Amino acid sequence: SAVWQSPLQETKSVCPYCGTGCGVLIQHDGRKILGVRGDPKHPANFGRLCTKGRTLHQTVQAPDRALQPLLRDRQGGEQVIHWDAALGLAAERFARIIREHGPQAVAFYVSGQLSTEDYYVVNKLAKGLIGSNHIDTNSRLCMASAVTGYKASLGMDSVPNCYEDIEAANCLFIIGANPAYAHPIVFRRIEDAKARNPDLKIIVADPRRTATASIADLYLPLRPGSDVALLHGMLHVLIWEELIDRDYIAAHTEGWAELKQRVQAYTPQRVSELCDLPEDLIREAALEFGRAHAALSLWCQGLNQSSHGTDKITALINLHLATGQIGRPGAGPFSLTGQPNAMGGREVGGMPNLLPGHREIINPEHRAEISRLWGVEALHPEPGLTAVPLFKAIERGEIKAVWIACTNPVVSLPDQQQVVRALQAAEFVVVQDAYHPTETAEFADLILPAASWGEREALVTNSERRISRLAQAVSAPGQARPDWEIFRDFARTLGEILDMTGHPSPQTESWSSRARRLFDYPDSESIFKEFRESTRGRDLDITGLSLAILDEQGPQQWPFHEGATGGRQRLYTDGIFPTPSGRARFLAPAYAPVAEEIDARYPLRLTTGRLRDQWHTLSRTGQVAGLFQHVAEPLLEIHPEDAKALPEGSLARISSRRGTVIARVRHARAQLPGTLFLPMHFGSRFAPQGMANALTLPALDPVSKQPEFKHAAVRVEPAVFA
Ligand code: SF4
Repeated sequence: SAVWQSPLQETKSVCPYCGTGCGVLIQHDGRKILGVRGDPKHPANFGRLCTKGRTLHQTVQAPDRALQPLLRDRQGGEQVIHWDAALGLAAERFARIIREHGPQAVAFYVSGQLSTEDYYVVNKLAKGLIGSNHIDTNSRLCMASAVTGYKASLGMDSVPNCYEDIEAANCLFIIGANPAYAHPIVFRRIEDAKARNPDLKIIVADPRRTATASIADLYLPLRPGSDVALLHGMLHVLIWEELIDRDYIAAHTEGWAELKQRVQAYTPQRVSELCDLPEDLIREAALEFGRAHAALSLWCQGLNQSSHGTDKITALINLHLATGQIGRPGAGPFSLTGQPNAMGGREVGGMPNLLPGHREIINPEHRAEISRLWGVEALHPEPGLTAVPLFKAIERGEIKAVWIACTNPVVSLPDQQQVVRALQAAEFVVVQDAYHPTETAEFADLILPAASWGEREALVTNSERRISRLAQAVSAPGQARPDWEIFRDFARTLGEILDMTGHPSPQTESWSSRARRLFDYPDSESIFKEFRESTRGRDLDITGLSLAILDEQGPQQWPFHEGATGGRQRLYTDGIFPTPSGRARFLAPAYAPVAEEIDARYPLRLTTGRLRDQWHTLSRTGQVAGLFQHVAEPLLEIHPEDAKALPEGSLARISSRRGTVIARVRHARAQLPGTLFLPMHFGSRFAPQGMANALTLPALDPVSKQPEFKHAAVRVEPAVFA
C-alpha cells in the first residue's frame, strides 16, 4: 500500500525583521509557505524565535501584497500596467529629468531591509550609471550615529564584538536600548546569561523603566538626552577611583590628556543635576563597570537617534578604551543593529557618502578603485544628500524624481508634514515594495511589486558582522520580482532611452552599451562575486567567502580573508586600530542639551520607540492579527502625575510645534514624570490621527545626520471633539 509522505520541505532563511538576524527554517510545499521554525543551527538564535519571527509565514500570502505594477494618478486612481511599460515609463521620466536638470535632480531612498545584492545594484545604478550620489536609506534613521562614532573613535565602521560576548561578560551596560522589545532573542540570551551567572551585573540606563530595565541590578532613569553627561561622569569616577587601565591607554590610544581635562568638570554632583539622577547611582554604575573583568555595552536608538548621537557613542567608547575593556571576550562597545541588513547596505556603499567596500566618495583613490572595478570613467566626487535634507531638496524642487524602495518615509521620517509636502512637490515618485498600499504609496506615480522574504535569494549581515544566506522557498506571487532585478532592468531600459533621446554619454561608449555591461547580472551570485571583489584589501575583506561556504558551513562573520577557514569573531584583539597612528582615539565632546528644550508652551518631553510585536510602519507586521494582541493602537504612556486631567483610557491631544496627534492614554509609572512615550509604528492606515512622527523634529546630528527621534517638546490635553 502507498505510504503517505509529508510534502513539507524546509528552506534555510533569516528573519527579515531586526538586526539580531535569527536563522529561520521556512516550511513549505514548494508552492506555498506554510510555517516557520527557528533554525537550531544558526548561531544568532539556536532555534529560538520571538513573536514576530514565529508569525512570519502569515505575512507572505497577505491581502496587502503588491502583485502587479500599477500606474497611479495623484487622485488615487490605479491602473495595472505591464512590467516593460512600467520600466519604460520610469526610464522615460528619469531620462527627461536627467536631460533637463542633470543627474543630481534624481534620487533613491532605500532600506536596511533590502538584501546586500539589491543594495549593490541600486547603488551602482545611482552612482555608476546615472551619476547621482543622492541615494540614502532608512538606515540613516537607525545606525548612522553608531557608524560615525565607531569611525571617529576606532577608525572603522564595525562592531568589534559577537553575541557570545553576552555570555562571557560579567557586566552588561545597556544604555539607550530595550532589547526585550527591539531585539527579543538577544534579550533571551541576556536573561539566560544572568540565570547561569548570578555574578553578572546588569546596568540599564534609560529614561523609561522598560521591560529590559526590569532585570537590571542597577537602573538609571536619566533625563532624556543627557547621556553624554552620564558617560563623562562615569569616566570621572573611574579616574578618581583609579579604575582606569593606564597601560592600555599608553599603548593603544591617543587623546587621553584632552579627555581627562574634559571630564574633570563632570563631577557626580554636576552630572546628578544634568541627568536628574542621584549621585550614588552614577558612582555605583561607574564602579560596577570599572571593577568588571569583562564589561560589554549594548546600545541602540536611545543613543543613535539624537542630535548628539555621535558624541554619545564616542563618550561610551571612551569608557571601554580607558578601562581596556575591548578586544577580548565579553568586553567592548556593541551596537545592536536595528534592521536586518543595515550593515550589508553600508558594506556595498549604499549611502550618499560611500562606495563599495567601506570606501568614501570624497577619497580620490577610493573613487578611482571603484571606477576601475565598474569600468566607468569618473564618479561624482561630492557626497549626496542624507535622508532629511534629501526630502527637503525634493520639497524645494531641486530633486524632481525619487525612487523609494522597501520603506515608508511618510510614517518613518521626522516631521511627517514636511515629507508629505516633498512628495506632493515631486514630479515623479516610484514606490517599490512587497506591500501595497502604504502611506507613501498614496503619493506615488508608479508602484512596482517586489518579491518578499522566502521568495528570492538574498544575503544579509546581522549585528555581529555575520553574513547569512537566505534561500528561496517559493515563487513570488503575481508579477512581483526581486528588487535587484527591477533595478537591473530599469538601468538597461534607462540606457536605451538616454541613447534614443540623444542625451550625450559621459564616455565614448553609448549609454545602452554601458548599462548592459554594468548590469550584466544573470543571477544574484554574480552580484555577490563583484561585491566580494570590491572588499579585497579592505577592513571588511570577504575574498575568502563563497556561497558554497555559507551553505556548507553556515553564516560567517567578516572579515573572511582569502585562504582563511573562518571569519573573525572579535576585532582589535591585538590592540591595533585602523587609524593613521594605529591607536584608538579618545574624543572629548562637551555635553550639549537636546535640540528642542521644553518651555512654558511645550512643557513635556516626548520620546518615541518600538512595541514588542510590531515592526517599523506595519507594512509587514500589520498583516498579522495576532501581533495586535499585545498593543492594538498607539497608546500615549504618561506618568500618573502628569495625567491629572487625563483618565486612563481617555483620548489625549498631543501637540508639538509641527503637528498634533490623538492617542489613548495609558498611565505608566515606567515613565519619568514630565516625559511621554508614543510608539513609532502607526501611520494613517492603522491610526488615522496617531502618527508619532507628526510631532518629531528634523534636528540632525551634525556628523551622522541622524534625526532626534528621542526628544521633542510637546504639550498634552484632553482631546475635545466638536
Ligand atoms: Fe526576528 Fe529579531 Fe525576533 Fe530574531 S529577535 S525572530 S531577528 S524579530
